[in-house]
Amino acid sequence: MMRERNVCKGCTGNVSTMNSEPIIYDSDPSLDENIVEEEQYKRRLNQCLACSSLQNGTTCIHSGALVAFRARFRDKDCPFPGKSKW
Ligand code: SF4
Repeated sequence: MMRERNVCKGCTGNVSTMNSEPIIYDSDPSLDENIVEEEQYKRRLNQCLACSSLQNGTTCIHSGALVAFRARFRDKDCPFPGKSKW
């Protein structure tokens, strides 16, 4: 049986590193109903950037996800123990 290959999101065409904002998910929000509005996305990212659980400016230590990617999706939440931050 062939195993699905996991690809690092930081290595795909939709995610890139930038100077001031560590990672930008380059997608048109109108194309995907599961993508949050830009304002909500920025609020989420700001929470992450101020969070003690952010590692290397990119990754949540609780989910292991790139926050700039995870924060884009309506069906995702913040996994901060005890109380979600977004
Ligand atoms: S715990 Fe929540 S706010 Fe903190 S880095 Fe993870 S997703 Fe962001």
